[in-house]
Amino acid sequence: MILKMCSTCHRPFSADEDWKSVCILCWKQSRGYEFNKSDDAYLGLQQGFSTARLAWKDRIAAYEKSISDLKAGSNDEDSQLVQAQRLLASTRRRLNQVNTEKAELEETCTRAEEKCALLEALVVTLKKEARRTRAPIVPAATLQPDLLRDLIVLCHPDRNHHPKATEITAWLLAQRQEKR
Ligand SMILES: [Zn+2]
Repeated sequence: MILKMCSTCHRPFSADEDWKSVCILCWKQSRGYEFNKSDDAYLGLQQGFSTARLAWKDRIAAYEKSISDLKAGSNDEDSQLVQAQRLLASTRRRLNQVNTEKAELEETCTRAEEKCALLEALVVTLKKEARRTRAPIVPAATLQPDLLRDLIVLCHPDRNHHPKATEITAWLLAQRQEKR
């Protein structure tokens, strides 16, 4: 016996010969024969088999859909993972960049601080120097022009070989300059 599908009613039937293509019931119908009780029972089995077959087809289709959904879902997760990895890599690159910039800024700051310290020291030195060279020996207001002239003559380095003679003469000349 070979299990085949009837070409007329599309229900399964058991063929005792390979060439048979229609079920016994369709054959009987085509000849105008009446159905007996066993034919009715055969029809019941055929219908039951068809119903069960359709139900299995539905279940198989549902399983196939679940499998393809799961596959699609795992593809989604893969692409999310790839995206997350890309984001992580670009964040790491940015972090490295920021760290480099920070180190450069710190170096610039250190150099600027060193420069500041040098300038502050220079200012202190210059202030000291200014106080030393511009400090009035006597209040300028009390120096009368005659006294100033005498002082210039007496202090002049041509007459004095004191190491401060030049400095004091310069200051006295500056006083005379200011009074004019
Ligand atoms: Zn048939």
